[in-house]
Amino acid sequence: MDRLDFLRTNIANNELPTYVYGYPSKRAYRAFSQPLRITDVVEQADRSKQINIYIHIPFCRYRCTYCTLFLTTRHGGETGESYVARLVEHIARYGEYFGDREVASIYFGGGTPTLLTQHQFGALFAALDAAFPKRSRRCETTVESTPDSFDNNLLDCLKALGVDRMSMGIQSMEPGELAHSGRPYSLQTAKAAINALIARFSHVNLDLIYGLRGQTRDSLISSLGRVLDYEPQTLSLYPVVVRPMTSITMSKAHNPELFLSEAEKYEVYDQNVALMASKGYRQESFTRFTRIAGDHAYRQEVSDFKGTPLLGLGAGARSYFGQYHCSTDYAVASSAASPIINAFSARPFDPDAIASHGIRLTQEDLRCRYVLLGLTLSALSRSNYAAEFGRALAADFSEELEALESLQLVNLAEGDAYQLTRTGFKYSSIIARMFYSARMAALEQQYQAA
Ligand code: SF4
Repeated sequence: MDRLDFLRTNIANNELPTYVYGYPSKRAYRAFSQPLRITDVVEQADRSKQINIYIHIPFCRYRCTYCTLFLTTRHGGETGESYVARLVEHIARYGEYFGDREVASIYFGGGTPTLLTQHQFGALFAALDAAFPKRSRRCETTVESTPDSFDNNLLDCLKALGVDRMSMGIQSMEPGELAHSGRPYSLQTAKAAINALIARFSHVNLDLIYGLRGQTRDSLISSLGRVLDYEPQTLSLYPVVVRPMTSITMSKAHNPELFLSEAEKYEVYDQNVALMASKGYRQESFTRFTRIAGDHAYRQEVSDFKGTPLLGLGAGARSYFGQYHCSTDYAVASSAASPIINAFSARPFDPDAIASHGIRLTQEDLRCRYVLLGLTLSALSRSNYAAEFGRALAADFSEELEALESLQLVNLAEGDAYQLTRTGFKYSSIIARMFYSARMAALEQQYQAA
C-alpha cells in the first residue's frame, strides 16, 4: 500500500492507534548483548551543551485500570528510602560526566512522584544542585501527581525547591467513571487538589481521559467543562488505550457496549477541540491544549527535539543520548516490577553497566525521529533538516509529504516549515505510523506478537 492509500484507508476506518509522543517507543527496546558503558554515551551526548533530566518514581497507591507503566504498589517504608538513596547516588555519579552542562529541564514522572516525602524531595534536589549546578534561565521543573497523593505542606515544599510546573491526572469529574478508572478517592478530593495546585503554581497541567467504561459524550463534555472552570494553563485530553494485561481489557471483553468505539472517540475529540478553542486554548498536539501565550507548554519535549540529551534516572527510566536510547531493566507485568525495582536499589552505580536494554538508532531512524517529532511540534523545517542531516527533506520523505499535502493534513508555512492542519492534528497518531522506519515497524510488530 502506498503512503496515500495508507492514510486514506486508516482515516476511513477510524483507526486510532496509541498516541505517539516519542520515537522509538520502548516496544522497540531489546536487551543489549553487553550492558552499555557510560563511555559509550558520553561522546554521543557531546553535541549539546545542555541536558534534560527525567527522574522516575515507580510507586503508586493503586494501579489504574488502563495503566501499563512500570511501577509497583508495594513501596512502603524501606523500599522508598532505599530507592531514593540509590537515586541520590546516581545523580552524584552522573554529575561527574554531565555536571558541566546547563540543565534545560527536570521532570519527576512515574508512578506518582508526590508519594515521596518532603525529606526525600529535599535530598533529591540537594543532590541535583550539587551535581548539576548550572541551570538554564528557562529551566522547566515538573512534578507529576495524583489528587490523593499530597498535602499542602508538600506542595509548599516543592514550590520552595523550584518546581514551576505541576501535572496531575484527573481522568474524570464523574464519581462512577473515576471508580471505573481504578481511582478510589472522592470527587471532593480531586477538586481540593486542583484548587491547591492552581493556588500555588504558575503552570498546572491537568489530564482527562475519554473512553473509560461507562463514559458518554455528554458525561465527557460535562467533565471537561468542570475542569475548565479552574482555568488550568494546560489541559491534556487522552483517548484511553485498551492494552493487554490491564483490567480495562477484561472489562471491555465482557461489556463492549459500555465503551466508546474508535469512531465515537474521534467524535469526542472533535467536540473537545471545539470547546477548547471556544475557551481560548491553543492546540499544541493531538492531546495538549494550552492558554500559555508565546511559549510551548512542555519544554522538555521541545528541548528533546532540538537534540538535547535526556538523562533518565531511576529504574526503567529512558535515556536518549544521540544514537543510543536505553534504560535499566523494567517489566510490563506488574508482578515483575517489585523485584526489578528492589534490585535497582540494591545495586551501586556501575559506569561499565549503565543500561541493560535499549536500541542503537541508525541514521535512517534518526531522520525518521526528527521528522516525526518535528511534525508533532509543528516545527519541521526544511532548512533545519538540511542543516541537521546534510540532505533534503523533500528527497528523503517525498512520498509521505506529498500524501500529507494532498489530503491537506499539513501546511507549508513560509515555504519552509511543515505544520499540521486542524485535520492533521486529528489524525496525527495515524500520520506518525507512516514515518516509522521499516526496522522500527518490524520491532514493534515482533513485540505485539510476543
Ligand atoms: S496513578 Fe498514574 S502511573 Fe499510577 S497507576 Fe494510575 S495512571 Fe498509572
